[in-house]
Amino acid sequence: MAYDDTNIFARILRGEIPNDTVAENDHALAFRDIAPKAPSHVLVIPKGAYVAFDDFAANASEAEIAGFMRLCAQVCAMEGVSLDRGQGFRAITNAGRDGVQEVPHFHLHILGGAVMGPMIG
Ligand code: AMP
Repeated sequence: MAYDDTNIFARILRGEIPNDTVAENDHALAFRDIAPKAPSHVLVIPKGAYVAFDDFAANASEAEIAGFMRLCAQVCAMEGVSLDRGQGFRAITNAGRDGVQEVPHFHLHILGGAVMGPMIG
């Protein structure tokens, strides 16, 4: 699937629309979900143009993958949901039609601050 650079997260990355940034590095941006499904709900996105998880995993550079993952860890620490604090969290990504992905720019949802419900349903 070709990347559509008119998607809302591409527009956020270009600074065309505002976002509630939590943290950022050279390769990734973390910001609060506009419609949070948990007390803490942060989206982490790569700055590169990747449609979904499999596109990112297959095609991103080592530096992009490392930058993305390190930012995820930073978000968990900043949000106070890291395992070493005894809290925990859920990290999920939706991909394509069956994953019911709304925004076609790869993003990881990090949800915490409450006990999560069932995964599917
Ligand atoms: P999905 O593509 O299904 O994994 O979900 C996309 C997520 O992006 C949803 O949880 C939306 O609430 C969220 N979202 C959509 N537009 C924005 C925005 N402008 N700022 C922050 N989050 C957004």
